[in-house]
Amino acid sequence: MPEPVPYLDLKAQLKPLRAELDDAIARTLDNCSFCLGPDVVQFEKDFAKFCGAEYALGFNSGTSALHVAMLLLGVGPGDEVITTPYTFIATSWAISYCGAKPVYVDIDAATFNLDPKLIERAITPKTKAVLPVHLYGQPFDVDAVAAVCKKHNLPFVEDAAQAHGAKYQGKSIGTFGAVSCFSFYPAKNLGACGEGGALVTNDAALAARAKSLREHGSTVRYHHDEIGYNYRLEGIQGAVLGVKLKHLEKWTRERQRVAARYAELLADTPLQLPTVTAGNESAWHLYTVRSPRRDELKKHLDANGIGNAVHYPMPLHLQKVYAHLGYKPGDFPVAEQASREVLSLPMFPELTDAQIQRVAEVVRNFFRK
Ligand SMILES: *Cc1c(COP(=O)(O)O)cnc(C)c1O
Repeated sequence: MPEPVPYLDLKAQLKPLRAELDDAIARTLDNCSFCLGPDVVQFEKDFAKFCGAEYALGFNSGTSALHVAMLLLGVGPGDEVITTPYTFIATSWAISYCGAKPVYVDIDAATFNLDPKLIERAITPKTKAVLPVHLYGQPFDVDAVAAVCKKHNLPFVEDAAQAHGAKYQGKSIGTFGAVSCFSFYPAKNLGACGEGGALVTNDAALAARAKSLREHGSTVRYHHDEIGYNYRLEGIQGAVLGVKLKHLEKWTRERQRVAARYAELLADTPLQLPTVTAGNESAWHLYTVRSPRRDELKKHLDANGIGNAVHYPMPLHLQKVYAHLGYKPGDFPVAEQASREVLSLPMFPELTDAQIQRVAEVVRNFFRK
């Protein structure tokens, strides 16, 4: 059998960076700045610049950045936040951690992103914010979300955990919402060697409060103004991310190459291939196709050594943890159908053309049977 193709190959990314990473980590060890510190400060500057934003703050995960984003907007017990049921669960955790309630609206079938046309009728007097996700790296319809939010005087937060470097109408995502949150989980487009996240904003007051919430609710050591958290990014992760950030644009171009090649090689299969809205650029975190025969296709890929994954097999409104919200099957048919039909193919910058061809060949063989 030909070589298997992994779903994700982090070793392939780390290998050429190894000497640079060893040096950067050694410097952090030498100066003993383990929690925040100069490497984190430098990375925050560089990442803010990358996003075209005023402020970027390092967090110990994307989830904690999202939590603080909700706190910054005053989300609290009894409030509602309108969000997508079709994402990784952490998007909703941020709302739940504040004692607020996620209010779901269905997604758009073409982009898998929250459908902005459905936001307005979900707004109630308790609505405090809107939290859409740039899913799989594809920007959500920012203009439509911004318009309905403006009309109702609501802020929105971008969950950009999968979309580092994606562009909406020529401009980097991460600067459209009141706040935007990124994840540096190792498998993300920009990954730490461990956990990490960032909160990005153009608002000085929000940035200052986020900094305090990140560090025990204090700006002066041992003086605490409000309940805070230990959400600091580690110094070593700041050093690692600083090294990797320099390669991110190139990696995004490589992901675009992989996506374009898949599109070519899979065009005449019955698969529904991912599309990118005109004028936008996806960061191609995932290459997610859909087919009514998803489960069979998955078995076929597994049997032929082609890595794959389902993002996501169960929409959030049907998760056990959210049973108390009272949603039922059929409430969000587009998201539910997507969860039965999607399959993510191998996608990472180092994927070779031979590997892409092998994936396509195995997929094509499935439909030939
Ligand atoms: C990864 C992810 C998060 C959470 O990030 P962590 O760094 O793993 O905490 C949040 N939202 C989405 C959409 C994600 O993909």
